[in-house]
Amino acid sequence: MKRIAILGSTGSIGTQALNVIRRHRDLFSVEVLCAGSNADLLIQQALEFDPNAVAIANPDKYQQVQDALAPHDIKVFAGMDSIADLMEMDTIDLVLASIVGFAGLRPTLRAIEHHKAIALANKETMVVAGKIVTEAATRNRVPILPVDSEHSAIFQSLVGEMGNVDKILLTASGGPFRGYTRQQLEHVTLADALHHPNWSMGRKVTIDSASLMNKGLEVIEARWLFNIPAERIQVLVHPQSVVHSMVQYIDGSIKAQLGIPTMETPIQYAFSFPERIESHLPRLDWHRYPQLTFEEPDTRTFRCLQLAYDAIARGGNMPCIMNAANEVAVQRFIEGKITFLQIADFVEEQMQRAHFIANPTLDDLFATDDAVRAL
Ligand code: NDP
Repeated sequence: MKRIAILGSTGSIGTQALNVIRRHRDLFSVEVLCAGSNADLLIQQALEFDPNAVAIANPDKYQQVQDALAPHDIKVFAGMDSIADLMEMDTIDLVLASIVGFAGLRPTLRAIEHHKAIALANKETMVVAGKIVTEAATRNRVPILPVDSEHSAIFQSLVGEMGNVDKILLTASGGPFRGYTRQQLEHVTLADALHHPNWSMGRKVTIDSASLMNKGLEVIEARWLFNIPAERIQVLVHPQSVVHSMVQYIDGSIKAQLGIPTMETPIQYAFSFPERIESHLPRLDWHRYPQLTFEEPDTRTFRCLQLAYDAIARGGNMPCIMNAANEVAVQRFIEGKITFLQIADFVEEQMQRAHFIANPTLDDLFATDDAVRAL
């Protein structure tokens, strides 16, 4: 039995992970559930999955959760520090890192330091601190198993043949605005940006998909997860989202992983690895996909992808600056304070203004994140 802690259990990834566990109760159990502020759903999940402990980041919600779970033998905690502290529990075998944004970094690192295997959905952790996180994982002999569908596809293609890689072909759906001109993008709304053609995800990652920042974050994530320079990671727009990504080897052979667009497959693979276990999800219906197409991304219109390549080329704390600026920009777009095109303007401006550090420590990265948000 693998005992799992879920960081971000009330989110899109967290709830899909619980679907996987619900179907495989003989293999997986829930040890810890952590949420941001959705107390109602956290309580409901705790009553169903009976974890050892739950934690909610928002301390104002503590009493509600405590009152609801008091008759049950479930420990309740509140605040970000408690979430990180819970990662030290001996009874956790694997942590699903699925908090959104920079907030996921601290508890994920704590889990690594306490020798927990990581199933990583929270790509921002790798973007901000990929070097520190991968070094900590190596030092503590902790596997980081990708959950992001593209990275799971790359990982699945690499199993059995890790060497001799020429390049990674990272596929992108292109999002709801694929093919749009800058002029068309001037008028898009929040509702348009949230209307993803293939995937149902949390708001932040959906908007990142529309701006192609998500693909930029994924390039940086892949750079660290697979230890390959960003120049050898090529993005291909593949609107059908059937080929989840590919690995090209030095002889020109290409291996890919394909399937229906669902996050439950990569979540399940990360949970069951090194085994592959049965799934009752629908199979790919080839008749629905008479054509699989691939095209170059338009980085002149969707500048966020190019900004991410620029950030990783510069290195140091630049991806952290970019990520913080993007988190702020997306939030401001959600609040209606900036337009869609201003997301890239804002990110670029912060990348030019913020203080650059070539070899940042973890403290430098926390200070960078704070400073960019303050700007
Ligand atoms: P959601 O917005 O749906 O969920 C985010 C989760 O994080 C919620 O449980 C939320 O809690 C919790 N959370 C937010 N802030 C905090 C905080 N400060 N402390 C503790 N918990 C917090 O996001 P997704 O599930 O879509 O995405 C999660 C991560 O996975 C992101 O990094 C995303 O890029 C990545 N990812 C997502 C995919 C998807 O299909 N959704 C695909 C691939 C990667 P609450 O709701 O209770 O406030």
